[in-house]
Amino acid sequence: MAAVRPGAVLLTIGDELLLGDRVDTNGGWLAAFLSAAGFRVQMILTVGDDVPAMHSALSRAVEVAAGGVVVMTGGLGPTTDDVTREAVASWLGVPLQEDPAILETLEARFRQRGFANLPLPNRRLAQVPEGAEVLPNPAGTAPGLALSLAGRGPAGGWLFLLPGVPVEMRALMEQEVGPRLARLPGPRPAPLASAVVRTAGIPESALAEMLEPLTGGTPGILVQYRPSWEGVELRITASDGPDALEGFMSRAAHILEPWQYGGAESSLAGAVLARCEAMGWTIAVAESCTGGLLGARLTAVPGSARVFLGGVVAYANDVKVGLLGVEETTLAAHGAVSEIVARQMAEGVRARLGATVGVSITGVAGPGGGSPHRPVGTVCFGLADTDQGWVSEQVHFPGGRDEIRERAVQHALRLIDQGARKRIRG
Ligand code: ATP
Repeated sequence: MAAVRPGAVLLTIGDELLLGDRVDTNGGWLAAFLSAAGFRVQMILTVGDDVPAMHSALSRAVEVAAGGVVVMTGGLGPTTDDVTREAVASWLGVPLQEDPAILETLEARFRQRGFANLPLPNRRLAQVPEGAEVLPNPAGTAPGLALSLAGRGPAGGWLFLLPGVPVEMRALMEQEVGPRLARLPGPRPAPLASAVVRTAGIPESALAEMLEPLTGGTPGILVQYRPSWEGVELRITASDGPDALEGFMSRAAHILEPWQYGGAESSLAGAVLARCEAMGWTIAVAESCTGGLLGARLTAVPGSARVFLGGVVAYANDVKVGLLGVEETTLAAHGAVSEIVARQMAEGVRARLGATVGVSITGVAGPGGGSPHRPVGTVCFGLADTDQGWVSEQVHFPGGRDEIRERAVQHALRLIDQGARKRIRG
């Protein structure tokens, strides 16, 4: 049985977040912090510096968190547009009171900076809702506040108010709030354990379909799919900790193996180069519509010189013929974007550079140049090896010019990877 995690709701406050002037980074950081601390983050709400809006958000947050924690950031500053403390006090139905200890700390800070008196607006920082515990701010002036929600709903829980400045919010979470959360009564489930798996060559829906029988039968496992031009990245999270994660990963290994090329930090180019190096292979590339992107991707990996010999950017047909040995008659009969030209490009570059494997890309990246027969996005690939073996493929990629070129590079890398895997299997 998966352990029940206490709930958490985050409220990020500030008109600037709603106007699009500032991106809410506090919400993401807090979500990661609280998830790692064993909470189930259920909702992140962004609200303007507006008292009625904060009232309704607080009511909803406390209802959803159901006895867990609500963390609010922003609007605790000294100016009159910072109304979070007023909104919280009125929502709780308690008065704001001046806290003499905060006032003293503020006065001392300002004296140190050469001010004889505390500027009037800063007195607002000493106003706290009755019953709040003050959390000293190690990185700034506005302190954090902790308020018990006992009696504020059927389930109780805690409300934390933190300044919006990200560095101050983080310091308060780490030094003040985190230790308080660890001391809360009740069963503390194991911290979440998670792993990242990067895949290429398979759509998100097909992966989900294959993994569904496993995830459906394993409570406490969450699989998130993050598709991009480079492939699908999976984040697998186990709410019952590292052993549960390991068990799931070993059951999923045979499903993921054909597509997986590494974890969070890995690149397909790096994985391909490592595989080729293990087999003693060298690579040469012939690129048309990608104009050198494949070579760039391979050479971005440190140590690629042990495998990558070089390439030819054969954009014009004359270069395909003159430097790669593509037959003019083939070009005339089939066009530059054809599987047979791709094969001749791959074999030409392989032989001329003396590589074990030659790889080619020729396609229509758009926006112009498409035809009903070969629409924009049509890309042909060739792969040739020393045993006169070759593979060719025609693929149609969606998207604009950048996306088509990036996807083509990824596909070419995947072709090399598949070739190497076939050889390994025998
Ligand atoms: P201060 O005491 O500095 O006034 P505060 O609690 O009133 O702090 P805000 O005035 O709301 O916080 O914001 C202070 C700074 O932090 C602003 O630059 C604001 O844009 C930024 N900030 C606030 N909330 C967030 C957030 N959720 N994500 C990223 N930045 C934020």
